[in-house]
Amino acid sequence: MYAERVLSGMRPSGRLHLGHHHGVLKNWVKLQEEFPCFFFVADWHALTTHYDSPEVIADNVWTMLVDWLAAGVDPAQATLFIQSRVPEHAELHLLLSMMTPLGWLERVPGWKEQQERGEGAELSTYGFLGYPLLQSADILIYRADKVPVGEDQVPHVEITRELARRFNHLYGREPGFEDKAREAVRKLGAKRARLYHDLRTRFQQDGDDEALEQAKALLDETQNLSLGDRERLYGYLEGGGKMILVEPEALLAPVSRMPGLDGQKMSKAYGNTINLREAADSVTRKVRTMQTDPARMRRTDPGEPERCPVWQLHMIYSNEDTLAWAQRGCRSASIGCLECKQPVLEAILEEQEGLHERAQPYLDDPGLVRSIVADGCERARKLAQETMRDVREAMGLDYG
Ligand code: SF4
Repeated sequence: MYAERVLSGMRPSGRLHLGHHHGVLKNWVKLQEEFPCFFFVADWHALTTHYDSPEVIADNVWTMLVDWLAAGVDPAQATLFIQSRVPEHAELHLLLSMMTPLGWLERVPGWKEQQERGEGAELSTYGFLGYPLLQSADILIYRADKVPVGEDQVPHVEITRELARRFNHLYGREPGFEDKAREAVRKLGAKRARLYHDLRTRFQQDGDDEALEQAKALLDETQNLSLGDRERLYGYLEGGGKMILVEPEALLAPVSRMPGLDGQKMSKAYGNTINLREAADSVTRKVRTMQTDPARMRRTDPGEPERCPVWQLHMIYSNEDTLAWAQRGCRSASIGCLECKQPVLEAILEEQEGLHERAQPYLDDPGLVRSIVADGCERARKLAQETMRDVREAMGLDYG
């Protein structure tokens, strides 16, 4: 009923590194070609852990946006915006908080683990407990039906689906819904109305999912329906009320195993990162001084790539021939470690050259990023306001 839409956000928690590039941004770049995408800077989310030092967030916001643009996120294809510039997120978060059972939030991994580990009082805040609820508001306010996430974030999408269902169940029942829905069916015209009835019966009586899909397709291709009637017909089809909020699907992002300089997952917490736009001499120094297989004490000692963090980078950056060359050379000690690191280093530097090039215009003229974000915020806000109009109306909050 609503247009396909992807929503994804990132907390501005510092400079992005190659783990973000390979794990998230490359996927965004692909998605922006396939769907309308909304990518946002989750600055309010950053306050859950930085509420006592908000000053670090401001700089990170703009640096991160340049990182996105450098990675190929294209403002001509995707809408880029900042969460706090669309205050409707906060309004929906508040309204959802009224109907969200505490238990739903307490069982979300993250809060549960933090409580079990008995971690510091600084995370025993409502902001931390309510974090998934704000995330749900972020998604639901754009009626986004697709949310790219890693496996560990699936429970957050699941709670969003439950919230949308609960909201639609509580507030989607307008007075006289059945009569209005039947009236809307008549507006489909005799032939389509008959087909709609048949398909609805097949779904509701026999659980025929194919019939449900056909009926949805029928509604999608019917032009002259008002938004209200369209919502009613969707709701009537599935036996519910009006569908006001859309249940999103988790789009499982391809797993990226970007290793850090020590072979663990690349993460700022491990101090093993290469930044997305790091200076070439710094990248060179980091790669050249990377640990290798400890068994290769001397140049003449054979090594085993499986024990070496450099090999993991080869797996990301090297082609079949180079991989075979490195394996053979390592096991026979016919190449040294510096020699083996060279193709990896060159591949990273080449990748970074593209990133630097794309970032340069935005560094030369920071006003460009400001104006991209201003446009994005305006587009995002318009959609958010539309949803909030429906939400307020459904909850009886439009006092006129
Ligand atoms: S030759 Fe390459 S794979 Fe082998 S230990 Fe040295 S850096 Fe690692």
